[in-house]
Amino acid sequence: MITENLAKALSDQINAEFYSAYLYLAMSAKADDLGYKGLQNWLFVQAQEEMAHATHMYEHLIERGALPSFGAIAAAEDAKELNDVRPIFEKVLSHEEYVTSLINNIASLAMKENDHATYTFISWYVNEQVEEVDVANTLLKKVKLIENNPGQLYDLDTELAARVFINPFPAA
Ligand code: MG
Repeated sequence: MITENLAKALSDQINAEFYSAYLYLAMSAKADDLGYKGLQNWLFVQAQEEMAHATHMYEHLIERGALPSFGAIAAAEDAKELNDVRPIFEKVLSHEEYVTSLINNIASLAMKENDHATYTFISWYVNEQVEEVDVANTLLKKVKLIENNPGQLYDLDTELAARVFINPFPAA
């Protein structure tokens, strides 16, 4: 069985994943409000991924015999202040760097508790965060290059409109 410490850390992470979904939904709505329909879609797909992460962690906890806890999810009001594409991607990058630190802490705890099953489970997220930060960095750099060119921003928005949600855990 999973230790109480680790079960608490994963429960907190379920909450953090739902908060991430909440934040991405708020940013998605803001992107729509700004007229960036492609960015709205990209952020909405991101929110769907975060909800899949949360339910995947829920599955791991109940499989291991733990009872997860479900505390309040923080408000995502500050997304309203993000008034352009660049501040939105700056927020995406800083948020994903923060989530990386949370995931790394769980990996360290799993190692410390000698919980090989949870360590293997959370390793997927360690790799996932490398990709999340890389994608956020790449998009932010691109936005910095083209932010004064409405035509190129329009092309980027069209590119972001093509993103489709694929459940990373179809068997779960
Ligand atoms: Mg996530």
